[in-house]
Amino acid sequence: MISEEQAYQQILAATNPLPTRKISLTDAGNCFAAEDYFAQTPLPNFDNSAMDGYAVKASDCVRDKSLKVIGEQPAGVDRQLRISLGEAIRIFTGAPIPDGADAVVMQEDVEVHGSEISINTEVQPGEFIRRRGCDLAEGQKVVSKGQRLRVTTTAALAAQGLSEVTVGGRVTAAVVSTGDEIVQPGLSLRPGEIYDSNSVLLKSLLEGWGAEVRFAEHSRDDEQALIGCLRRATANNVLLISGGVSVGQHDLVKSALTAIGAKIDVWRVAIKPGKPFLFGKTGGCHVFGLPGNPVSSFVTFLKFVRPAILLMMGAADNELPLRTVSARLVEDVVNASDRPHYIRGQLTDGEFTTSGRQESHALFGLSRSNALLRVPAQKTFRAGEFVHVELWD
Ligand code: AMP
Ligand code: MG
Repeated sequence: MISEEQAYQQILAATNPLPTRKISLTDAGNCFAAEDYFAQTPLPNFDNSAMDGYAVKASDCVRDKSLKVIGEQPAGVDRQLRISLGEAIRIFTGAPIPDGADAVVMQEDVEVHGSEISINTEVQPGEFIRRRGCDLAEGQKVVSKGQRLRVTTTAALAAQGLSEVTVGGRVTAAVVSTGDEIVQPGLSLRPGEIYDSNSVLLKSLLEGWGAEVRFAEHSRDDEQALIGCLRRATANNVLLISGGVSVGQHDLVKSALTAIGAKIDVWRVAIKPGKPFLFGKTGGCHVFGLPGNPVSSFVTFLKFVRPAILLMMGAADNELPLRTVSARLVEDVVNASDRPHYIRGQLTDGEFTTSGRQESHALFGLSRSNALLRVPAQKTFRAGEFVHVELWD
């Protein structure tokens, strides 16, 4: 058995980014930028009005003085207007600031008398003017290589005039569930059978983190059937196998993988739940054997599969860990085991409460959690203590 950290490092060392590709910005959510992007267009791109109102000289705006409105500047066209003392220009949000103006007065503060206005408020130079480059300067970095593209970052790239972006590779994935007791949802159960919840869990996790699931099959605990299924599944970048990786006589994954020529790098890791976890490779396919218990599958996916997939997708190192936040423990949490234990719980308003039974089969408890607390081996955390929890939701 190896440590969690050793397993993690071995998996990352055996994993490389896939070739990059250019895709439409609208498809780039959840992808990672494959290069640095620098601003060629500052934001805003020109000095413009933040309000519907009047462009003026601030020093001209004194009580009871009238200004002559000499023109109108809408958004979308630069009429190259200019004002002198005693003059104003009708202006609208987003419109270029006329030469000579150094402020905009919003229309609510103006009284209109025919072609003249009077201003009922103090006006400071620069008021309601959005200066060129004040949000984003020319040459400033918009997105770094390896950074996750969120909806807001793709919008910032669109504001640079880009319609496409170069991102890391697309990860294709296969999910194989094993077990004679496993039945697909929608069918009826006979005594002794259970539904295949792991396939749904793993497919959703894969897709949620940006992989494309191209293959999903179930195999009985029969070595020849499993070998055939695994051969078909390994045409993908990633293969997740649920169940059959432990030491029982029906656990055939390891021998079936050996039979198809896979090299097994990791088997059995000091982590709770998830001890029987397996990692290996065959050709270009990264094979992850996840223990069948649903919580074990879930935890080992987050800890070992997820970072490997993100690395293949071109994620930078700082994108690999789950987001952690500080939380106050509502109750004592004890780990009497000699392996670190990932406790499932609910983080609400800065407080962490364990959810349900902390056993590896307890799927309902998992379904009510949104965060994991790693409790080192033989460690107790007391109620009221502040701990770091990992968010996955
Ligand atoms: P195994 O890892 O094959 O020894 O299975 C461990 C436990 O997980 C057993 O109780 C299995 O019935 C259960 N299990 C295995 N595969 C699945 C699955 N696809 N969905 C839900 N539970 C499963
Ligand atoms: Mg099994």
